[in-house]
Amino acid sequence: MKNIIDFIKQTFKTEEFIPLHEPRFIGNEKKYLNECIDSTFVSSVGKYVDRFEKDFASYVGAKYAIATVNGTAALHISLILSNVQRDDEVITQPLTFIATCNAISYIGAKPVFVDVDLDTLGLSPKSLKNFLETNCEIIENICINKITKRQIKACVPMHTFGHPCKIDEIKNICDRWKITLVEDAAESLGSFYKDKHTGTFGKIGAFSFNGNKIITSGGGGVIVTDDEGLAKRAKHITTTAKIPHPYEYVHDETAYNYRLPNLNAALLVAQMENLDKFLANKRELATIYKDFFETKNVKFVEEPQNSNSNYWLQAIIFDDVKQRDEFLEFSNKNKVMTRPIWKLMNELEMYKNCQKDDLKNAKYLEERVVNIPSSVIL
Ligand SMILES: *Cc1c(COP(=O)(O)O)cnc(C)c1O
Repeated sequence: MKNIIDFIKQTFKTEEFIPLHEPRFIGNEKKYLNECIDSTFVSSVGKYVDRFEKDFASYVGAKYAIATVNGTAALHISLILSNVQRDDEVITQPLTFIATCNAISYIGAKPVFVDVDLDTLGLSPKSLKNFLETNCEIIENICINKITKRQIKACVPMHTFGHPCKIDEIKNICDRWKITLVEDAAESLGSFYKDKHTGTFGKIGAFSFNGNKIITSGGGGVIVTDDEGLAKRAKHITTTAKIPHPYEYVHDETAYNYRLPNLNAALLVAQMENLDKFLANKRELATIYKDFFETKNVKFVEEPQNSNSNYWLQAIIFDDVKQRDEFLEFSNKNKVMTRPIWKLMNELEMYKNCQKDDLKNAKYLEERVVNIPSSVIL
């Protein structure tokens, strides 16, 4: 225990408190923010939103990017655009941040939990296929859950801690079963699967720029898609569904005020300029951790096969829950911030009655995975 903590302190070159993940502002952040303030364009109009959307789409290789106020809003809109409606079902993984399930619930749809893979920590294509073959049938080109009689409209895998899940296999299964694939890529900016950016495999992908993510706009998110119609509609319903007019207020449906303010976009444009630097730095930290933990008989979570991970949050896996708890206790007491992986979604009060498979791997990981300090080291 103590030698792990000493090693982390050495690596981060400090005896002070070490957070799990803090942002770095080493570029044009102040300059661009000042430009916004000097120009008075701090809010919903301004050049940085457009510039960010162009930069982002080009970076991930999507045709369109639509900025949103946060990642949860991006997921919410992605599900609406996938035509998910009240009482529909959405398959996702139990091992995720609550935002994935919140977005499903805002619509009144129901999550269904399918297990994850041990090597990716993300949705398991094998479990997905097995769940569908056991419980579902295709009737008139839609996927019906035989148990609940509801339609399964969408599937939302998540790239846990930035490690890509087996997204091409998941896409094939979704296509076969007439289910729309929406990627929760909130944690995986800079992560590629077979040389294609995560978030661009499905019909729509959602990213987050919350303060703890690999780059941040304070708060923010983005939707990516190659579908022009969906992109236009995403912009429309995230900006109150206002019909362009020189002076009149006409809105053609009940919509959302989910747009990203120009101030936040300015911060984000500056952060994007350093993304490659951050990625290289995190990969280096992963190597340092991997070499160290190899000598300590603790399993370090490495990028899965066929992928290039952003290593957003570094993670280790203990042998059992007792060891994990001892480590959490000791590290947090000694000013090194560490956190267990999330409590499984199906164990939360709101989702305890949702349909699920055996979730064997998710339970195994829930008891053993711990995140350790992962900030970019300057
Ligand atoms: C961060 C995150 C989100 C979105 O979070 P916001 O704080 O709303 O930007 C969604 N899903 C996952 C898995 C996340 O980690």
